[in-house]
Amino acid sequence: DTQLHLRVTVSRVGRRDILLVAEDHTESHRLEEVRRDFLANVSHELKTPISAIGLLAEALESASDEPEQVRRFAEQLTAESERLSRITRDIIELSRLQATGSVTTARLVGVRDVVAAAVERNQVLADANRIEIVARGGKKAFVYGDERLLVAAVDNLVSNAVRYSPGGSQVGIGVRRVEGVVEITVTDQGEGIPAADLDRVFERFFRVDDARSRSTGGTGLGLSIVKHAVQNHGGDVRAWSSPGHGSTFTIRLPEAEPATAGSDA
Ligand code: ADP
Repeated sequence: DTQLHLRVTVSRVGRRDILLVAEDHTESHRLEEVRRDFLANVSHELKTPISAIGLLAEALESASDEPEQVRRFAEQLTAESERLSRITRDIIELSRLQATGSVTTARLVGVRDVVAAAVERNQVLADANRIEIVARGGKKAFVYGDERLLVAAVDNLVSNAVRYSPGGSQVGIGVRRVEGVVEITVTDQGEGIPAADLDRVFERFFRVDDARSRSTGGTGLGLSIVKHAVQNHGGDVRAWSSPGHGSTFTIRLPEAEPATAGSDA
C-alpha cells in the first residue's frame, strides 16, 4: 500500500492570499491500521477458545450422568483454558516489549546459560518425539541484557524447531562470537518454510500451516516475541529455510564488552 495520506488545511491570509498547509499523515495512518488489524486478530484469537469453553461447560452440564463423556469434556475444557492463558500471556508479553522498546533490567548474561535454560524447557517435548537437541559453544559468549527475555527468545526458536520437525530428527543450537556480535543459531531438519513466507513468519499471528500451529499449542506470536525481544537488545533475528529439509534461525546480539564481562565475572 503506497497511498499517501495528507491532511490539507486552507486558510485565508489577508484579502487576496490563501495559505495551503499539507501535512503528511501517512505514517500515523499506517500505525493506526496496524493497531486496528492487531485488535481484530486478537479478538478473533480470543473468541475461539472462549466460545469453546462456553460450549463445553454446557455440554458438561448435560453429560453429568455419563462419566466417560464428563471426563472427555473436562479434558477439552482444560486444553481450551490452557490455550486461552497461553494466548493472553503472549499478547501481554508482546505488548510490553513493544511499549518499552528497550531493555529495562540489564545485566551481564552468559549465553551458554541462556541456551541451557531454553533447552531444558523443551526437553520433555523433544523426548516425547524422539528429537535430539544438541547444543554447542557459547562458553565465552556474554551479552548485556534481560536474561528472562533472552531465554524466552531462544526458547521460542527451540520450541518451534521441535514442533515443526519429524520424530527422530535433530535440532542443533550453536553459539559463535564474530566481531563484537554473538550469534545464536537454531537449526532443524523439519518441514521448512516456503521462501515467500520467510519474512512473514515474524508477523503477529502469521502461520504457514494453521492446523499444525494450533494442534501443537502455537499462538502465532512466538516469532514476533523473539523479534521484539532481540530488537530491544539492539540485535536482530533472521530466518533461512530449505523447504522439505529444514530451517535455520539466527539471533544476533551485541557482545558485552570484555571489560564489562571481566568486572562482573
Ligand atoms: P506458532 O505459535 O504458530 O508456532 P510463531 O510465531 O512461533 O507461531 O511461528 C509462526 C509460523 O512460522 C508458524 O506457525 C510456522 O508455520 C512457521 N515456523 C516457525 N518456526 C518454524 C520452523 N522451525 N520450521 C517450520 N516452520 C516454522
